[in-house]
Amino acid sequence: MPTFVHVDKCDGCRALAQPACMYICPNDLMSLDVSIGKGFNQEPDLCWECYSCVKTCPQGAIEMRGYADVMPMGSRVTPLRGTDSIMWAIQYRNGEVKRFKYPIRTTPWGSIDSTLGEPAPPDEGFRSQELFGEPKQLHIEALPVLTA
Ligand code: SF4
Ligand code: SF4
Repeated sequence: MPTFVHVDKCDGCRALAQPACMYICPNDLMSLDVSIGKGFNQEPDLCWECYSCVKTCPQGAIEMRGYADVMPMGSRVTPLRGTDSIMWAIQYRNGEVKRFKYPIRTTPWGSIDSTLGEPAPPDEGFRSQELFGEPKQLHIEALPVLTA
């Protein structure tokens, strides 16, 4: 079931370069209605329920519509992600709420060098078939070249 945005909570991620939900959605479904400054799911039918936008929204404004057969009558699943853990608040249909907290990383926030010490690729690197770090990370001199 797709996500939806609580417009009363959404601030359009004004403090960020782009809305966090737009940045994170692997299916490019989240968008921003610039006329009102609110995020929204522009293609709910294509949402694969990965929860990425729900977990990353800094305002906790995004919620997943639960399946009627497993989450009837007001049950909810709400994540609250921190820098080292995530808390899942499970609301049962009788109104009872239970919270489950899990660690999400083993290293300090911001400590991972995603470039592995490599310099940023040059512009022409984006037109190459090589992936970042290749061929060095494959421990070869060069990738094989297809010939006709
Ligand atoms: S991430 Fe949350 S606060 Fe930011 S635009 Fe999306 S729904 Fe709104
Ligand atoms: S749950 Fe996943 S696929 Fe669906 S809108 Fe959010 S980020 Fe995109």
